[in-house]
Amino acid sequence: MLGLTHIGFALLCSSILKIRLTIFDVIGLALFSILPDIDLPSSELGIILRPLSHKLLEHTTHRGATHSLLFVLGILCPLRFLLPDFHLLAALGLLSHLFLDMLTPVGIEFLWPIKLRLIILDAPVNTGSKADYFIFLISSAIFIYSRISIG
Ligand SMILES: [Zn+2]
Repeated sequence: MLGLTHIGFALLCSSILKIRLTIFDVIGLALFSILPDIDLPSSELGIILRPLSHKLLEHTTHRGATHSLLFVLGILCPLRFLLPDFHLLAALGLLSHLFLDMLTPVGIEFLWPIKLRLIILDAPVNTGSKADYFIFLISSAIFIYSRISIG
């Protein structure tokens, strides 16, 4: 999935859960929603942190270690103590990313290092496809509408 789709979907999830967001929450949620793709040098964070991204890709495959339960727990456990008010939003960003990537043909290695790919649909969504953009547009539109409605 595209980074924008992950951000839009994470924001939609926050609306569904009726979470009030400050601008800093939105920025943090957006960053955590794209963090798992740091294992891809062409991703938004991969471009910014290219040496780290290449190093990760040397040791794992895309949608491998950084798309796993171990990665999520490895991020959330220290965050629970460092930023206790933010760790649930970080969890939402990370888990919404993993959910969307399970819709792709490749799926994710959620139980990494066990090489078992999880895919949840028979009609997978390719990155950059019309379906990918559709998810981005619908998620963003519902998020914006819900924020206007809430005030
Ligand atoms: Zn991903």
